[in-house]
Amino acid sequence: MTKSRKTAEPAPAPEPAPAPVPCPDVAATAAAFLDGQQITTTQCGLCGTEIAGVNGRYSCGVCGWTNPWWEGTSTLPGATDYDQG
Ligand SMILES: [Zn+2]
Repeated sequence: MTKSRKTAEPAPAPEPAPAPVPCPDVAATAAAFLDGQQITTTQCGLCGTEIAGVNGRYSCGVCGWTNPWWEGTSTLPGATDYDQG
């Protein structure tokens, strides 16, 4: 009697999810927003990792360091800039 080894069939690859199709209005709004942003890189002030930030504001994903808000290159929105409704 010979032992037959079952060969494991490789699991079929999962179907890739269909790419989401952005609504043209949402895409245009996002593009306009991104055009106004300045993305720059710097070194983390704590661990030295190269990090990217928007408008001069950085947050390190490695150690959690953030630069002070006043080092940013744009004005932050104030409390009155938000709709209170
Ligand atoms: Zn860091």
